[in-house]
Amino acid sequence: MTQARQKITIFGSTGSIGKSTLDVIALHPDRFEVFALTARGNMEKLRQQCRQFNSPYAVLEDPQAAERLENELRKDGVSTEILCGQEGLIEMASRPEVDTVMAAIVGAAGLPSAFAAAQSGKKVLLANKEALVISGNLFMEAVAESGATLLPIDSEHNAIFQCLPEQNKRVDSQVRRILLTASGGPFRNLSLQELSAVTPEQACAHPNWSMGRKISVDSATMMNKGLELIEACWLFRVAPRDIQVVIHPQSIIHSMVEYIDGSVIAQMGSPDMKIPIANALGWPQRIVSGSAFLDLFEISRLDFAPPSEARFPCLRLAREAMEAGGACTIALNAANEVAVAAFLDGKCRFDQIPIIIEKTLESSETMPVQSLQHVLEMDAAARLRSGEILEQLN
Ligand code: NAD
Ligand code: MG
Repeated sequence: MTQARQKITIFGSTGSIGKSTLDVIALHPDRFEVFALTARGNMEKLRQQCRQFNSPYAVLEDPQAAERLENELRKDGVSTEILCGQEGLIEMASRPEVDTVMAAIVGAAGLPSAFAAAQSGKKVLLANKEALVISGNLFMEAVAESGATLLPIDSEHNAIFQCLPEQNKRVDSQVRRILLTASGGPFRNLSLQELSAVTPEQACAHPNWSMGRKISVDSATMMNKGLELIEACWLFRVAPRDIQVVIHPQSIIHSMVEYIDGSVIAQMGSPDMKIPIANALGWPQRIVSGSAFLDLFEISRLDFAPPSEARFPCLRLAREAMEAGGACTIALNAANEVAVAAFLDGKCRFDQIPIIIEKTLESSETMPVQSLQHVLEMDAAARLRSGEILEQLN
């Protein structure tokens, strides 16, 4: 008997993760079929993807652009129905036909749709780490209540998931700690003074990974590792002290789990997001990802070092925000999004990013957050505060 194909909604299909997801899906037409594709602005790319995958639905942010795309596709002989806005995204997360949702929108903007997928009991492939950073307790509660299957796409978290005890896939009493690896980004060896002069182009040129611009800057400031520390705390129910960040410049080991008997289990592979994406799409089975296989002789050595919080304060800020709890991680993430966008726009220096975040955090609340609406309100308030702080800097 042949199995029914998994129907998949991909949020952010025109982005780096979205495109890699479609690359893996294209290798397995017998297993997967696209249900919906979504983008903010890149209409031409979305049109091409709808044609190639014959997607029944697509979502664009802007209603006029949505109408135009639908007309263009009709001319191509493709009958994709185009929805628009946040409502369209939420519908595509929760429709009963959908089995699997890839949440790959960047930033807090991806929270409502990822949350809707978690509430609807879907298999949720979570790339959008910011969603967990700002709503961790609510998101994990929604997963538990609906019976959704949450699988991490971030390469480190997918690696940790692969290295956890097979019996329960949890951090239990056999686990001593998690070793979260970090490449250290393109500026690993720069002095504090050199860091003040880096440009957006330099920050977006990651030595090992090809990614969207926001996460590339996050990798350069090491806020990416800070967000990932918080993400790991929620996904694996551990405290920041149970996680050691390890600088590993080659990005071949994607993270490790250390056990009480002294064993350390690592997951290795090429630095290619198709590997964790295929792992989650096929889970619990392994499927071909299309990624290059590792050549250990060519790699020949792996290096490890402790992180420097003096040069990369974002890591410390993230840990402190997680320890403080409440809305602090919402403020951390909002301030980071504002500061990174300003840096990419030439409106602040690279070394001012952590200053904006730290000042925003000074006035954030540690009260627990009760609802998705409350998260979005706190997010908006923190964005306003960091916008003012940015103005005062210049
Ligand atoms: P990207 O910028 O390449 O793509 C983002 C996608 O989201 C695009 O399709 C864009 O149209 C859509 N989008 C952006 N803003 C939107 C909005 N306001 N509303 C609706 N859609 C919107 O980003 P990316 O590098 O693919 O990263 C996506 C997410 O995955 C991020 O949360 C990132 O941290 C995470 N992630 C990425 C990588 C990677 O290698 N790229 C690795 C691990 C985790
Ligand atoms: Mg990662």
